[in-house]
Amino acid sequence: MFAPPVQRLVTELGKLPGIGQRTAQRLAFHILRVDPEDANALAAAIREVKEKIRPCAICFNLADEETCRICQDERRDGGIICVVEEPSDVIPIERTHEFRGRYHVLGGALSPIDGVDPEDLKIPQLYARVTGGEVREVVIATNPTTTGEATAHHIAAALRERAPDVAVTRLASGLPVGGDLEYADEVTLGRAFAGRREIA
Ligand code: ZN
Repeated sequence: MFAPPVQRLVTELGKLPGIGQRTAQRLAFHILRVDPEDANALAAAIREVKEKIRPCAICFNLADEETCRICQDERRDGGIICVVEEPSDVIPIERTHEFRGRYHVLGGALSPIDGVDPEDLKIPQLYARVTGGEVREVVIATNPTTTGEATAHHIAAALRERAPDVAVTRLASGLPVGGDLEYADEVTLGRAFAGRREIA
């Protein structure tokens, strides 16, 4: 139906989450209409993130240097580590302004059915950080989903053995069950953070 280059753009846009065939076509026609500079800026921005962004060497958050901005920030409390599933979960927690510690991004949640085991996530690296000495508390902020809960309990049990002096807490309930942290509003998330409790 379209010239091959247009069809290629529609196909690529259609691979984005939440973008159906019709939206992909609308976006493609929009890109065809805009100034070449604007279209090139979009293409360049995509290329740049793929070239320059990598996981932080300490916490596995997104970084454009060896370590991320949060790990580089001397004012952040290194004694408390918040464990999240994905880099996108750091943003809503930062927005609450409830947390001044550091993060650890697992890269997903445990799911034996899907073949996701502890070694497939940054779990061994978490244990290495926590047993390093400085850490007083680990806040587990995995998603309130089945896999997120299973991951929280797995980590809590392992930390109890490896680092018995470190408090392991979980966000208070009140977050929408089955939802992603990413979609929680900041007031609810801030409250869940302030009300965190030690995992029994
Ligand atoms: Zn980092």
